[in-house]
Amino acid sequence: MRYAAAGAGAAATGGLCTYCNGAAAAGVLPEYEKKGLRARAVRILTPPRDGFYGKEIDVLGLPVRAHTVVSDPALVVAADRLARMLRHLPAAVSERLARRGAAFHIIGIGQGTSDLPEHAHMKGVDGGYTGEKGVTLDQRARGMGGVHSSCGEENLIDLDSDPRYAGRDILTHEFAHCIMDVGLPPALRAAILETYHESVEVQGRWRREDGSSAYAGSNASEYFAELTMWYFGTHGEFVDAKQQQPPPGPGGLAAYDPDGFKLLAAIYSGTHPALSEADPPSVRLDPLDMDDPATGRSVEEEEIASSLVQTGV
Ligand SMILES: [Zn+2]
Repeated sequence: MRYAAAGAGAAATGGLCTYCNGAAAAGVLPEYEKKGLRARAVRILTPPRDGFYGKEIDVLGLPVRAHTVVSDPALVVAADRLARMLRHLPAAVSERLARRGAAFHIIGIGQGTSDLPEHAHMKGVDGGYTGEKGVTLDQRARGMGGVHSSCGEENLIDLDSDPRYAGRDILTHEFAHCIMDVGLPPALRAAILETYHESVEVQGRWRREDGSSAYAGSNASEYFAELTMWYFGTHGEFVDAKQQQPPPGPGGLAAYDPDGFKLLAAIYSGTHPALSEADPPSVRLDPLDMDDPATGRSVEEEEIASSLVQTGV
């Protein structure tokens, strides 16, 4: 960046702003060297986790995983977008995510959703999770919500030219489901439900001209996930596709749905009163304790089965 020169430091480096001075002079950020810090980096998992995930990067305690065919930049971009969502949320949210084993997974450009081990049982199954005949999971979705939420590599490395979801940030949508279902306290989930009720059912927002629901109007979960896309700069399914309404970005959201914008701003800035509620002390769960004796299925399997949410687009 080249800002107007001000002061001796800027003058000495030919007008570079103060952020650039150190890097320009030393070739490396001296603050990193001094503190022994290393920039966020992708590491190789040997052997691959679940026999599939050979790459991992950590973001604020949350693992981002992918097969080794996925490019390192895709993992770095994913980590940055996830950090943007988690940065101001209190530690209790990250703790809840960690306790439930939350992770974000990337579907390689040449892979399908059912190549991910947690969805492998759906490969080629007619109807997939939704039961919609004639459509498999891979035909329907490249991105899932839940404890192990995911999106396609192409949506990370070039959002605007993604042939399927151009301009729509699928990571942000799917991980919003994970934050709502696993990370937020119950009082806040109730607040989301209340705002959805007010905005959609009372005020009549998120309806297309023909009266049908845009995706944000379908239920409280999709309301939160879709609005989160707008809040962080892109958009979900438009109410008016031709006119691109509401306009992408937080300004478009604030103008169209001030109640939703206010709620999301309070959540993602970490200032909503329900976020400061005391959490019960962390309990480290033994994986063996996660089996439900009634069904024999692990709690996580139940969670995935009940909370998987299609992008529906
Ligand atoms: Zn969704």
